[in-house]
Amino acid sequence: MRPVNRGNMPKQEDGVTDKVYTSYKQAKDDLKKSLGAYCSYCEMGIENQVDIEHVIPKNHNPSLENDWNNFLLACKSCNIIKSDKNVSRNGYVFPDTHNTSFLYEYLIDGVSVKNDLHEVTKALAKATFDLVQLDRKVDTSGMTDDRKLARNNSWEKAQEALKDFLELPEYDAMIRQTARSCNGFFSMWIQIFQDYPEVKKAILENVNGTDMQCYDKNFNPRNDLSR
Ligand SMILES: [Zn+2]
Repeated sequence: MRPVNRGNMPKQEDGVTDKVYTSYKQAKDDLKKSLGAYCSYCEMGIENQVDIEHVIPKNHNPSLENDWNNFLLACKSCNIIKSDKNVSRNGYVFPDTHNTSFLYEYLIDGVSVKNDLHEVTKALAKATFDLVQLDRKVDTSGMTDDRKLARNNSWEKAQEALKDFLELPEYDAMIRQTARSCNGFFSMWIQIFQDYPEVKKAILENVNGTDMQCYDKNFNPRNDLSR
């Protein structure tokens, strides 16, 4: 799960005064600009189907309904599944407050909580994993979960990109091209390109909002929840 920084409250046209949202929907463009149009949980590209996600659900804390610091972006699946299940942020990790880069492992047909985490970390990672059912295989109508389909496609694409990367000689151009071909599921791509720091750097820097402090000097996830 890509750790993100949404940045400070966006400013009004004068560049000085904080914006005031009278409806959370008004934050959509600012959020897309600061985080990229990707689900903050599953990392799927959601350019035309962006949901504004309230980390603390608005019915549990109405005062945070229009609060910039309570917003993330989510796909329909993550948003609907999470719904208002969490009463607060306690007992979970979230990509805007924790280093969530090292908690999950991507496999050819799924995603799971990493096995070698410390017990407390693992419990928090699992709670968030369950909150959005990150590895759901079928949706409520019995059809393949959209996120699973998109993630599997992206897995294939990343494997092909890796093959191209290893075969083609123009190293710098290939780094740029590889990063450009990554259209979401960043954590999975980072895992697949784990041996190539320059590619990981380009992938992470190609999208707004990634908290680079959550990665080490080789652009591998740091094994530490703190920010
Ligand atoms: Zn999602």
